[in-house]
Amino acid sequence: MSKIIINKLFGEDKSARVGKIFVKTGDQIKAGDELFNAESAKGNYLVKSEHEGKILEILIKEGQQIKIGDAAIEIDGVKACIKTEKAKSAYSFGLAQPKKENICCDLVVVGGGPGGYVAAIRAAQLGADVVLIEKHKIGGTCLNYGCIPTKSLVKSAHLFDEILRSEEFGIHVQHAKIDLLKIVERKDKVVSELSSGIKYLLGKSNIRLIEGEAKTSPEGGIFVKNAKIEAQISARNIIIATGSSPAILQIPGADLPIVLTSEEILSISSVPESLAIIGGGVIGMEFAFIFNSFGSKVTVIEYMDDILFNFDEDIIEVIVQECSDRGIRLITGARVDEIDLSDDGKGIVAFTKNESRCYAIGDRVLMAVGRKANLSALDTEALGVSLNERGNGIKVDLHMRTSNPSVFAIGDVTNKLQLAHVASHQGIVAAENCMGLESSMKYDVIPSAVFVSPEIGVTGLCEREAKKSGIAYKVTKFPFSANGKALSQGETKGFVKILSSEEDHTILGAAVIGPGATDLISNFTPLIMQKTDYRTLSHTIVAHPTTAESVHEAILGIEGGAIHFA
Ligand code: NAD
Repeated sequence: MSKIIINKLFGEDKSARVGKIFVKTGDQIKAGDELFNAESAKGNYLVKSEHEGKILEILIKEGQQIKIGDAAIEIDGVKACIKTEKAKSAYSFGLAQPKKENICCDLVVVGGGPGGYVAAIRAAQLGADVVLIEKHKIGGTCLNYGCIPTKSLVKSAHLFDEILRSEEFGIHVQHAKIDLLKIVERKDKVVSELSSGIKYLLGKSNIRLIEGEAKTSPEGGIFVKNAKIEAQISARNIIIATGSSPAILQIPGADLPIVLTSEEILSISSVPESLAIIGGGVIGMEFAFIFNSFGSKVTVIEYMDDILFNFDEDIIEVIVQECSDRGIRLITGARVDEIDLSDDGKGIVAFTKNESRCYAIGDRVLMAVGRKANLSALDTEALGVSLNERGNGIKVDLHMRTSNPSVFAIGDVTNKLQLAHVASHQGIVAAENCMGLESSMKYDVIPSAVFVSPEIGVTGLCEREAKKSGIAYKVTKFPFSANGKALSQGETKGFVKILSSEEDHTILGAAVIGPGATDLISNFTPLIMQKTDYRTLSHTIVAHPTTAESVHEAILGIEGGAIHFA
């Protein structure tokens, strides 16, 4: 849906009167079609269409006074391709001018994160002519400030943990120490390699990547400008994939320089002696473990009664025990109200717990209280795109269509589930629908991976939800302490847990906490999705010695058939 805006009248006229209107609602128009006469004292101007599509509404009436900038017609269509208008002069007062272009394509994707770039590639695979616009760094939060950089840090943290345990494995190591600058350098290299990889894939798919900030154009479509080009883009479809940003508590002291977001903490140059983390969600807890391994004294202050409050109690118990063993201080049921600076420059985090005012100290304070959708990147109202009921995300249906059928939205900006892999899949669904296929999202079997220690992987129904919804379920567990590979690795904490239905012999959900949990959980997702009868899996042979045997043993255990656990 776009609007035909009056951008030219007779000569230098700024206003006129509408004469004869030559089109009506429902007409199919193309570029060059005569729309209406605009009459002024100086002369008549025949307004022609620069758009193609179906007229939804005529917004002007014969005899009405109009001016430049007024919307004349609402149309289900896009601005048609008009020859590229070259900059009038390459140089003006010695400064290069951006080249003006009118780009016409099948799909414009705004935002190059794991949602946007995947959508672009999928649409290109299906034959679309795609433009992808990214204002900052290709790969978005996931690649530049989220999943990938944190996992690089997690690797360094685990390695250091192992080195510190090396005596246990018969290896003497002396003087092991953390060099955060080197760790950050390695992280940046990983990010840069992956970022080049994405650019290569986009190039191979003939996707045009424009670096710049996309804006909603008053004439419909998208406008983007950078030092080289100034492009007006008309596309059959738009996919909004503008992501999210760290949420900041609106409390005094939130803007102090010692307060960092999850993006900023990735580039600090030295390990803080102490770190106070506001928020014991996934981000807060991943950083709690990373900086604990690096040697910081970590305190987590969480509003809810539990850290990782969406997870099952038995999983939280393992993590809470591990925090206690490692000396990570957890303060739950505490609302942070204020951050102040001590005389020696440390952060004083003031919080309320049991109606008392308490304090935690940190050389640095990490704010990890969620992420908010980037809703203001484009003018949603002008695009005819509505927000969800809570006003915190773009409203989409299961096809990822917004309230404007030619505009789709995917990823964190929809605020459905803020996970990179969900964004990517939403991108695939949106791209397929743009290209005329019928694809839809299913949210009941979404895996999730948390890189605390031990790792957590969950998929399908969790016990917390099962209890709430009253679904009949059976729980089966197999502990890693009974697995040979886990024991030889010295990583015996945790278990594989299955929720199953005795009625139809299917697996409803699974959770793994322990060595390699984030990879092992993938065994369960297809079984749940395909409603596999778990009895058919009893003769599957799993390689020995592997931690995957625990998955198999847990499945056997549903009917009491686990061999290594009674
Ligand atoms: P979150 O919502 O998971 O956790 C934020 C926590 O902050 C909550 O537990 C909340 O109760 C707490 N909080 C809010 N206000 C507070 C206050 N005043 N005082 C104390 N505590 C307060 O958000 P997050 O951890 O920032 O993660 C953001 C999003 O990114 C989530 O949707 C998360 O699932 C996703 N993410 C996922 C992964 C992963 O799956 N590995 C990794 C990173 C991020």
